[in-house]
Amino acid sequence: MGGGGISAAFCVHTFIREVMNMIRPMTHRQQLLLASGCGLLFLLAMLLVWMFMLQKEPEEPKALPAETTAVSSETSTESIYSTETTTQTETSTVETTAATTVLTTVTSTTVTTTTTAATTTTTTTQTEVIPVESITLTFYEVQLTIGETAMPIVTMHPENASDKSEIWSTSDNNIASISGWGKITAKAEGECIIRVTSAGNPEVYAEVHVIVTAPPPTEPPTEPPTEPPTEAPVEEPPVTEAPAVQPTYINGILVVNKTYALPADYNPGLDPTCKAQFDILVQAAAAEGLNIYLSSGFRSYDHQARIYNNYLNWYGQEKTDTLSARAGHSEHQTGLAIDVNTITDSFGSTPEAAWLAEHAHEFGFIIRYPKGKEHITGYKYEPWHLRYLGLETAAAVYSSGLTLEEYLGITSCYAE
Ligand SMILES: [Zn+2]
Repeated sequence: MGGGGISAAFCVHTFIREVMNMIRPMTHRQQLLLASGCGLLFLLAMLLVWMFMLQKEPEEPKALPAETTAVSSETSTESIYSTETTTQTETSTVETTAATTVLTTVTSTTVTTTTTAATTTTTTTQTEVIPVESITLTFYEVQLTIGETAMPIVTMHPENASDKSEIWSTSDNNIASISGWGKITAKAEGECIIRVTSAGNPEVYAEVHVIVTAPPPTEPPTEPPTEPPTEAPVEEPPVTEAPAVQPTYINGILVVNKTYALPADYNPGLDPTCKAQFDILVQAAAAEGLNIYLSSGFRSYDHQARIYNNYLNWYGQEKTDTLSARAGHSEHQTGLAIDVNTITDSFGSTPEAAWLAEHAHEFGFIIRYPKGKEHITGYKYEPWHLRYLGLETAAAVYSSGLTLEEYLGITSCYAE
């Protein structure tokens, strides 16, 4: 390191001495020209440094092109100057090379900055994309016989969303297939879920619960039934916890949640009083210009088992348990629960949902799974799920501001 330092100092010293020897015999005019040339070179170097720094901050890309033209005009002056001083052969060569390098650098800088400017404009246009926020369908549950087809009409919201393209998928292609434009074709007996997802915003989707049944016999039975028909030879859903289970009444209220189940053969259908009260509720809402309709009422143990298993295919156990009840644990099996309108999260922001939250108890119903009570009820917010309790109890639960679990002092969690 020391040796290098000494030789470098020696070099600088010799260089200065040589330069001085060169300058001394020059005329005053030549000395002036050389001095101004050196000054210009220094300025040029400074400009280069400044440009490199600007390039690292692409926030002000517009300032650059003007500056670069200024630089190139200066470089041209420089090259003219260097041809003038051809007498100093060595120095002028160095200078011309410097000038060429400067020109090359300038050109490349201009190119890069223009690209940066172009990229910035593209990103600005992309920020104006309006994403799809929700999807509604003309139906959410459909029963088909093998070979039949159905096609829900899809509406993506908001109206002015940028990308309204759809992606369709099925949870079981053997039961029902789906075309690229949403045509459902029933293929085999069973149930599955057809999903439409927003291509522009894959977090947003809507689902149709498809039930496929065998087509009715095409020809009348030719032989008389010699033996009693074996009822429902279709594959039976797992009946594991059914035998010992009995319906649970607490304070005269039939309770079904994750803690309390119903036996598999509890099969009452939709309760007539519940249905009658619901019809009155629908009339009252209609009088205020609101449209409330029944989407799903009574569901049997078997039906619920199939729904649950379909969800299981999509989401796995943990998530499914927050979305769908296990067989025997669905309130729909009581015949006292009704799902209304579109069974989607977006229903929660409709005037119908607001009206229900405020008035359902006047007809004997409560919003069974309110917002923010998931840890108590075991289910996410379901603005569409009504539970019939009778006028008196519904009013009491409503004014208490509690969930049914809190009101009765019970839990809702699966045993295992
Ligand atoms: Zn429900």
